[in-house]
Amino acid sequence: MNSAETLLNLDRCARLGFWGQSWEAPAIHPNEVLRRAVDAGLLTEESDPGQLAGDTVMTLASERTLDVEGSQYQCALHHAALADIIVTALRGNGERWARPTDLVTKGLTWVSSAFLAPSGVRLRRVLLADRWSNERFQSEVHSWKGLGEVAAYGMPLTMTVVLIGQRRDGRHHTPFSKGWAHPRSRTLRIRKRAGEFKENWHEVWRETSDFNRDHWLDQMRQDYVLNDVLFEKEISVPDQAVLSKVAHLAEKKLRALQQTQETPDPNPSVCFWPVPCQFRKCCWEFTVPSERAGFIPINGLVLQPAQHRT
Ligand code: SF4
Repeated sequence: MNSAETLLNLDRCARLGFWGQSWEAPAIHPNEVLRRAVDAGLLTEESDPGQLAGDTVMTLASERTLDVEGSQYQCALHHAALADIIVTALRGNGERWARPTDLVTKGLTWVSSAFLAPSGVRLRRVLLADRWSNERFQSEVHSWKGLGEVAAYGMPLTMTVVLIGQRRDGRHHTPFSKGWAHPRSRTLRIRKRAGEFKENWHEVWRETSDFNRDHWLDQMRQDYVLNDVLFEKEISVPDQAVLSKVAHLAEKKLRALQQTQETPDPNPSVCFWPVPCQFRKCCWEFTVPSERAGFIPINGLVLQPAQHRT
């Protein structure tokens, strides 16, 4: 787990931050699967990074349980197609993305969740969001994955926002996934054009349609949809006083977590929103995570002393 993720968990619930250092629940939320798959696709050297991202979803779905109601297979298939097209839209035929190097300060290691732009003087991040607003932008700017990363590296950050729409019945309602096909000509549309759709165009989902990924992306461009659901936002470097306050706060919180021995109290009001917490079963059945209960021990903790890291 990276450092910003640990701090985000701590902000949500001290117990989540504490347990999240050492355990992962057997069931994994589809949004987390999608995030990991997109990261894998951006970092891979494979010739088809989109395919690799889709395969990553299927692998995670087969090795773990997806934390959803309804069909596991359909959910996996949908997210695999989504990961594939998102990575293809982000990377095209470009070089693999890279992470900045870990930072070591006074025995704490900052493991970045961001990517390093090819220039080497700017960070970048991919944000998968259901919808966009100014409030969401402010939230992301002030998040540990925004200002936290900027403060750690002293670099501005370009955030690429990918709108994946609301998830209903295991599927994201987004132009990356959903379109319309003409009943006779089999023409694909992602957005209605004036005078069209008088006939009985029917809804199509990419993972179950005959339209291939590149055609779908082309159609998103032709229908002027792509720029609505994939765009960039900049986070600049604040003045030195803000930078050092944020960096100091991050260090203080991580060090306090490092020294925590007892399981912190629960925060019941945040167990199920904005996404269900992975430890909700433990907390509401008054148990603790363990291998016996199916939890997966994780290592590579951000709080390991620097000399233990390679
Ligand atoms: S289930 Fe609730 S109390 Fe338990 S770790 Fe998660 S957020 Fe905290």
